[in-house]
Amino acid sequence: MNPECYPPVVSIVTDVTTLLVNHATVLVTMDEHRTEIRDGGFFARDGWIEQVAPTKDLPSSADHVLDLTDHVVVPGLVNTHHHLYQTLTRAYAQDAELFEWLTTLYPVWAKLTPHDIRVSARLGLTELALSGCTTSSDHLYLFPNGTRLDDEIGAARDVGLRFHAARGSMSLGQSDGGLPPDSVVEDEQAILDDTRRVIESFHDSTPGSMIRVVVAPCSPFSVTPDLMRESAVLARHYGVGLHTHLAETIDEEAFCVDRFGMPPLAYAESVGWVGPDVWFAHAVHMSESQIDRMAETGTGVAHCPASNMRLGSGIAPVAEYLDAGVRIAFGVDGSASNDGNDLLGEARLAVLLARVRRLGMMPVRVALEVATLGGARVLGREDIGALVPGKAADFAAFDLNRIEYAGAQHDPVAALLLCASTRAAHTYVHGRPVVSEGRPVNVELETLVEEHNRAAFRLARA
Ligand SMILES: [Zn+2]
Repeated sequence: MNPECYPPVVSIVTDVTTLLVNHATVLVTMDEHRTEIRDGGFFARDGWIEQVAPTKDLPSSADHVLDLTDHVVVPGLVNTHHHLYQTLTRAYAQDAELFEWLTTLYPVWAKLTPHDIRVSARLGLTELALSGCTTSSDHLYLFPNGTRLDDEIGAARDVGLRFHAARGSMSLGQSDGGLPPDSVVEDEQAILDDTRRVIESFHDSTPGSMIRVVVAPCSPFSVTPDLMRESAVLARHYGVGLHTHLAETIDEEAFCVDRFGMPPLAYAESVGWVGPDVWFAHAVHMSESQIDRMAETGTGVAHCPASNMRLGSGIAPVAEYLDAGVRIAFGVDGSASNDGNDLLGEARLAVLLARVRRLGMMPVRVALEVATLGGARVLGREDIGALVPGKAADFAAFDLNRIEYAGAQHDPVAALLLCASTRAAHTYVHGRPVVSEGRPVNVELETLVEEHNRAAFRLARA
């Protein structure tokens, strides 16, 4: 089968203008009072929520009615850090810390093709949707063999998730003192030109937007200060977000002190990289004063507990971020350091990992807030993250009759965050199903997995 020829996109509900969700055992609104409605639901028109209420107070009909008896319904989860292409290289470099892990994988990633980017993005986003995710960011920072950001944007359209495509970059190769081999870095002018192209081609800032573009040099050890500065200027010219890895490991801190004479956050600030339009992946190693500086400047954090554990990077001070008022969200990070795309599971890990430091650090309802509203705030979105009138009808429903939730029915919300994570029964984006009855709606799962595995084998052998 031609790898580009997936079965046509078939949505089971193509002509819906009104949607009624009712009889949810608990509907978590994330409104300003954090209201949870028993036997609740909502009514939406053209993908926008008009009414949220107990079932008895909602209209009795709509073009599409979804009875969610025995389900808990939450706002769609928001993933704020990822590298989707890494689903092709899961379970590599199994006992390595970040720098060794990267230098093991760079040569493999140097062989990626446009098809690899598309198939891995389709697979990763589908797995995310099955975990209740409705909006994902992705950080693509190497572009070998003619690959482009366009390839993963096309995949996001196929799957149906909202997508914040971060045009990443690497320009500091080994011969200039950087970590990546020279074969995977780009010329800085070419990076800026292509970043401008993708913003002008794809970025949609309107409410309900399905595609936004983000400017995202990879990390302090793979780009120059000049590219950081120029990237910030470019992003602010267009009013798009800024994203990079920062303060992930002790090795990175040593690199910054050695090369720039200052720790990572001071370096970032010196090149214009703090503010409400900036969010950092990881931010594991931050002092009290640096956390205060993050709060003062409105700079956000994508907390990635699985990746931090997998690579032995450390435990991010999430409770301190929350106390200080720092915007914080979750990210699954690339599937070579996770090795999965389970955002509900990531929230559960965050709850558990915070408690390794101290009990009570991350209550379950706080974790759910970080996974929903927190993600929306970090991505700079007012239109998602809560099920309230005026916001988009992005939600996930989980079946409470599954074995994983047996014994926890007295608190379905806590069950989601403390019991083993399960797949969503239904995931809707803008009132349209992306997952229905536990199956992806817009891609044929078995065909996709088969094609993805062929691409992964080819990459491993090439
Ligand atoms: Zn990352």
